[in-house]
Amino acid sequence: MDSLVYFSTWTSLQAAALRIVAGSHIWLEDKHLAWIDGEVFRIEGQNAHVHATNGKTVIVSISDIHPKDTEVPFNGIDDMTRLSYLHEPGVLNNLAIRYAKNIIYTYTGNILIAINPFQRLPHLSEPHTMEKYKGATFGELDPHVFAIADVSYRQMMNEGKSNSILVSGESGAGKTETTKMLMRYLAFLGGRSRTGGRTVEQQVLESNPVLEAFGNAKTVRNNNSSRFGKFVEIQFDNSGKISGAAIRTYLLERSRVCQINSPERNYHCFYFLCAAPSEDIKRYKLADPSSFHYLNQSTCIKLDEISDAKEYLATRSAMNTVGISEEEQEATFRVVAAVLHLGNISFVKGREVDSSLLKDEKARFHLKAAAELLMCDCGNLENALIKRKINTPEGVITTTVDPNSATVSRDGLAKQIYSQLFDWLVNRLNASIGQDTSSDRLIGVLDIYGFESFKTNSFEQLCINFTNEKLQQHFNQNVFKMEQEEYNREQIDWSYIEFVDNQDVLDLIEKKPGGIIALLDEACMFPKCTHESFSQKLYEKFRNSKIFSKPKLSRTAFTIQHYAGEVTYQSDHFLDKNRDYVVVEHQELLNASKCSFVSGLFPSGLEENTKASKSSIATRFKWQLQELMETLSSTEPHYIRCIKPNNTLKPPTFENTNVLQQLRCSGVLEAIRISCAGYPTRKIFPDFLCRFRILAPEVLMERNNEKVTCQKILDKMGLQGYQIGRTKVFLRAGQMAELDARRTEV
Ligand code: ATP
Ligand code: MG
Repeated sequence: MDSLVYFSTWTSLQAAALRIVAGSHIWLEDKHLAWIDGEVFRIEGQNAHVHATNGKTVIVSISDIHPKDTEVPFNGIDDMTRLSYLHEPGVLNNLAIRYAKNIIYTYTGNILIAINPFQRLPHLSEPHTMEKYKGATFGELDPHVFAIADVSYRQMMNEGKSNSILVSGESGAGKTETTKMLMRYLAFLGGRSRTGGRTVEQQVLESNPVLEAFGNAKTVRNNNSSRFGKFVEIQFDNSGKISGAAIRTYLLERSRVCQINSPERNYHCFYFLCAAPSEDIKRYKLADPSSFHYLNQSTCIKLDEISDAKEYLATRSAMNTVGISEEEQEATFRVVAAVLHLGNISFVKGREVDSSLLKDEKARFHLKAAAELLMCDCGNLENALIKRKINTPEGVITTTVDPNSATVSRDGLAKQIYSQLFDWLVNRLNASIGQDTSSDRLIGVLDIYGFESFKTNSFEQLCINFTNEKLQQHFNQNVFKMEQEEYNREQIDWSYIEFVDNQDVLDLIEKKPGGIIALLDEACMFPKCTHESFSQKLYEKFRNSKIFSKPKLSRTAFTIQHYAGEVTYQSDHFLDKNRDYVVVEHQELLNASKCSFVSGLFPSGLEENTKASKSSIATRFKWQLQELMETLSSTEPHYIRCIKPNNTLKPPTFENTNVLQQLRCSGVLEAIRISCAGYPTRKIFPDFLCRFRILAPEVLMERNNEKVTCQKILDKMGLQGYQIGRTKVFLRAGQMAELDARRTEV
C-alpha cells in the first residue's frame, strides 16, 4: 500500500493549514529511503524548491511535504505523542535516531514499540534493571518492557482487575524474546522466596524452553521461529504471588513435520534428539539427522549458534523442572523418534493396480523401528498405510492404495501423531504448573503471529490474518478509548472523527452462514468439491463486495483487502488443510498400542467425534479466537509492537520502508492517525513556553501562570481551534508548523 494514500486524510489535514516558507526544514518522499530531509529555498505558488540532503535540488508540491522538527534531542523523544510533528517521517526518524544509539524502546502513548536489537543488550535485562522498574511511575524511566509489566501488575493489584499484554509483530521481530522478558519480570514481582523444590514461577518460566523445543524451528525469517501462537495466563493470589498459570496454544504448523525447504529446519526437538547421548540414540534406533527424509529435504541440518546435544539435555532438564516424569519424557522422545522413522518408510508400486509395497529393506527397517517405538503391531502399521477400509452397502471392504496415496497416508499419520503430542505437552504443562481457579487476578501475555503477506499465501495466512483483523479491531477500539481518556483527563472538549472499522473484513471471513470459513466447511463436506468449485462459490457470493476480489488471470485465487493491505490467497490446498479427520485405520492402530502414552494420544471416540462434527481446523480456530477475544475484552490491555529493523537479522541496519510497513501492519500508524485526527501535537506548558516565548516576549513580562501565558501567545498568533488542557496545549494538525514558521520570521 502506498504510504501517501494511507496518509491522505492526514496529509490533507496538514496541508490545509501548513505554512511552509523559504528556510523551512522539511521531509519529502524518496523512492528508496521512504523519506529524506531537505531545506526549502523558494516558494512558487503551490510548489516548494528544496535542497535535499542527498545533494539534489527538487521541486515538490507543498501538499506532499511535511515539516521537520529541527530540535529533536540527541536521543530522540521517548514518547512519540510528544513529537512536535506527529507524522510518518517524524515517527520514523525518531525511531531511527534511537535505534542507532541502541535505544530500542519507544512509547506511542501507552503502546510500547520494541525494535529488535539482534544483539544482547545486557543493561536492558539484568536484575538491577528489574529492581529499578519495580513500582516506578509509568513514563518516569526510559520506555521498557518491564515498565509495561510493572503497570499491568500494579493495576491488577490496586484495582483487582485482570490485565493483558499483547505482543505482536512479524516473524523475527522479537515477540517471543519480549514475552520471556515480561514473564521473567512478572516472576520477579510475584515470585516466592525459594524454599526448596520447584516454585510455580520456575515452572512457568521453564515451560518456555519445552514449548520452544517442540514448537519452534529455523525459518528463513527467524532461526528460532515459533510455529504456533501462545497465550499464557499467569494467575496471582491475593498477596500478589504467582499461584498458577494456564497456557493456550493456537494453530501449530503441522505441515512442517513432513515438509521443509532449504534453508529451513524441522522442529528443533528432532535435531536435539539425534544429538542425544549414545544410549538414547541406540534405544531409539537413531542415526545422523541427514539420514531421515523429514530432515534431509533441507540442506540445513546444523545451526551455527546452537549445540543440539546441549539443547537436548537442556530440554530434558526443563521437562524435569516443569514436572514431566522420566517415563513421560522417555515416551515423548520415543514418539518423536517414531515420527522420524515413519518418514523413511517409502513405497513402490505393487503387482496389482493401485497397490503399494515397501520400497526396500531400509523401508522395512524403519517400519519395524516405528512400530516398536509406538509399541504397535508392525503388520498392522504397514496395512494402515497401504490399505483403506471402505463402507459400502454390502459391508466394509478393504482396498489397496497406490504409492502416492500411501505416502500421503504416512505423512498424515506423522502430522497427526506430532500434533497430538504437542497438545499433550501443553496439557501436561498446564496440569503440572497447576491452575488457581479461585484467582481473579490474572495477567495474560499473548505472543502470536503478526500479519503475513507473501508471494504465495495459503490457508495458514488466512487464519493468521484473520487473527490480526480481530486483534486490530480490539486495538483500535482501545486506542480510541485511551485517546478519549487523555482528553477527559485534560478536560478538553472533543468530538470524535470516525475511524476505520474492519468489521466488514471480519464478517467476510467468519460470518455464519455465508462467510469464507462457513463456505470452506461446506466445501469440505462434499467429497466432489474441489478448490476450483470452492473458489467459484466465493466469486459468486462476494461479487459485489468492496473488500473481496478475484484476480484477473486466476480461477482459484482470491484477494482480500485487509486493514494492513491487500493479500491474494491461493486456494489450492485450502480443502485439505482445513480437514482434520483422524483416519480410522490410524486411530485404531495407535489406540491399540501397548504403550499407554501412545494409546492415550489416540483415545477411542476421537475418530467418532471428529467424524461426527466433520471437524474443521478453521472453525475450531475461529472458536478458539472467539474465546481469546472474550478473555481479552475482560482485561485491561497493554500493547507491545515488535519491529524487525532489517531482514539480515544483524544489528546495525534500519530499513525505513520495511519499518514503515510494519508500523502500518501493527496499527501504530493508525493509532497515530487517530491522534492526528484530533490534536496531534500536545505540549506541556513549560515545553511550549520554552519553544515559543520568543513569539511574544511582552506576554512573559505579565507574570501570569503558565497556562494563561500559553493562551495569550496562541491568541496573539491568531490560531483557532486549539485547546488548552490542564497541563498541556493541544494543537490541531498544521498549527505547530505555523508557529515554527513565525519563529523563523522573528
Ligand atoms: P516468530 O514469529 O518467528 O516466532 P518472534 O517475533 O517471536 O518471531 P523472536 O524469536 O523473539 O522473534 O526473536 C528473533 C531473534 O531476534 C531472537 O532469536 C534473538 O536472536 C533476537 N532478539 C529478539 N529480541 C531480542 C532482544 N530483546 N535482545 C536480543 N536479541 C533479541
Ligand atoms: Mg516467536
